[in-house]
Amino acid sequence: MNVLFTASESYPLLKTGGLGDVVYSLPHALNRLGLDVRVLLPGYRDILSQLDDIQITGWLSVQGAGRMHDVRILSATHPGFELRLWIVDCAELFDRPGNPYLHPDGYDWPDNAERYAVFSRAAAMLAMDVLESGWRADVVHSHDWQTGLVPALLSVETHPPRTVFTIHNLAYGGHFSHDEFMALKLPGHWWSGEGIEFYGGFSMLKAGLVYSDVITTVSPTYASEITTPAFGYGMEGILQANSHKLHGILNGVDTSVWNPSSDPFLTAHYSARRRNPGKRKNKAALLSHFCATVTDRLLSAPLLGMVSRLVEQKGVDLVLEIIPELLTRTNANFVLLGAGHHHLENRITDLSRQHAQRVFSHIGYSEEVAHQLEAGADIFLMPSRFEPCGLNQMYSLLYGTLPVVNDTGGLADTVVDATPANIANRTATGFVMKAPTAQGLLEAVDRALDLHANTRLWNQLQRTAMEQDFGWEKSALEYILLYKNGHAA
Ligand code: ADP
Repeated sequence: MNVLFTASESYPLLKTGGLGDVVYSLPHALNRLGLDVRVLLPGYRDILSQLDDIQITGWLSVQGAGRMHDVRILSATHPGFELRLWIVDCAELFDRPGNPYLHPDGYDWPDNAERYAVFSRAAAMLAMDVLESGWRADVVHSHDWQTGLVPALLSVETHPPRTVFTIHNLAYGGHFSHDEFMALKLPGHWWSGEGIEFYGGFSMLKAGLVYSDVITTVSPTYASEITTPAFGYGMEGILQANSHKLHGILNGVDTSVWNPSSDPFLTAHYSARRRNPGKRKNKAALLSHFCATVTDRLLSAPLLGMVSRLVEQKGVDLVLEIIPELLTRTNANFVLLGAGHHHLENRITDLSRQHAQRVFSHIGYSEEVAHQLEAGADIFLMPSRFEPCGLNQMYSLLYGTLPVVNDTGGLADTVVDATPANIANRTATGFVMKAPTAQGLLEAVDRALDLHANTRLWNQLQRTAMEQDFGWEKSALEYILLYKNGHAA
C-alpha cells in the first residue's frame, strides 16, 4: 500500500511540537509493517540545508494567490530518516529561516494561506502522480490545518486515493479571509457552511474535516472532547456531524529516540529494573548545568520539571502561580524549559532570578536539555488546559519522572492517578488533577511530594510507569485498518 504523508514539519529536520515527532515516528512504524510511505515536506531553508542525495523529481506549475509558482519536487535522504523524503521546493514561499509559521518578530507570515495552499496543491498533484513517476498514492494522510486543503483538492478528482486527516491540535484552525479564498482561486462551491467557509472567512482545518474520508485525532478522550463546545473551537458541530468518521488513536513514543537505556543525551543510562544510580547521576548532571556546586541537600530535594511550549494551552501560568507557595512550604526545586509567549518567558526568568538557588530555567528550544530534564527531574508538571495527546507525559513515564497532569485528552488516557486503590493494585503511574486550576495543581503536587517521601511506594510507581508500553506498533496497526477499510475493525 502506498501512503503519502503530507505535513508541515518533521523531526529531526524541523520540529515545533508533537506534530513533528509523529510525522517522523508513525511513517517509520508503518514502513516497518510493510507499507510504502513517502513523507512530503515544504522546502524550508533549515530543511534543505540538512538533506543528502537531492534529486529533482520534476517541476510543477502551481496556482498561488493571484500568481502561478514554479515548484520543484525534490527527492532526498537524511541520515535520521529511513524513508526517502519528498520536498516541495519553492524559494519564494519557503526559503525562510527559523520557525516555519512565524516571522522572526513573532507574528504569522502574512502569506501563510498561499504558502500552505501551494504546498497542498503540489501534494494533491503528487498523490495523483501527475509527474508520472510510477508511484501513485493509495492513501494520503494529511496533518493539521497546513495540509487541510489536500483532502478537499483530492475530493474533486475522478479516482482519488483514500484521504485521512489527523487533528493534532484543533486550536490552530488555519483561518483566512474571503479575499485570500478568491486570490487562491479555490473552487467557488466550497464557499458555503457545508464547505470550508467559517464565520465569514475560511478554515483550512475545516477543509480537512469536511472533505476527508477519515478524520483521526491523537487520543480517544480528545476525540470525544472536541465534539463539545468547551474544546471544539467552533468546529464541534462539524465534528458531531462527522462523528461516524472520527477516530481517536493514541500517539506512540519513538523509543529509538526516547529511551533512558540508550539516550545519547544522558550522563548515565538506566532502565525500569535498574533505575539507580543512573537516574540520580542524571539529576546531578542536570543540576550542575545551573549550580556551581551540587550539594547532597540539593540532590535529595524533590526536583520538579517542565518542558513546554509557553502558550496558554499548557497551563504554564498555573505552574508559575503555585511555585512561590511551594518554595515557602516545601523543599522542592524547579527546572523549567520552554519557549513561546514573551510574557511567560519573562515571568519564568524573573522567578529564577529571584530564587536563583531553587528555580532554574532555560528559555529556548533544546532537545538536549529536554532529554536531560526528563531523566534528571523527579516529578514532571503538565497541567495543560487541553491536550490532544501530549508526548512529554509519556516520555516522563518512560524516564521514571512521575507526571502531574490535568484530567484531559491524552493526559487522561495515559496517566493512572495514584489513588489508594490504584496504588494498591499497582496500576498507579502519576498524579491527575481534580480541577484545572492552580488549586487543583497544588493539591496534585502535594500528593506527589508526599509520595516522593515514601521511597518504597515511589519506587513502585516509577517501575510501573517505566514498564508502560507506548510503542508505535499498536497505533500504526489501527491506522492501517483505517487506510484499508476507511473504518476501525
Ligand atoms: P505540543 O505538540 O502541544 O507542543 P507535545 O507534548 O505533544 O506538545 O509535544 C511537545 C514536543 O516538543 C515534545 O517532544 C517536547 O519535548 C518538545 N518541546 C517542547 N518545548 C520544547 C523546548 N523548549 N525544548 C525542547 N523540546 C521541546
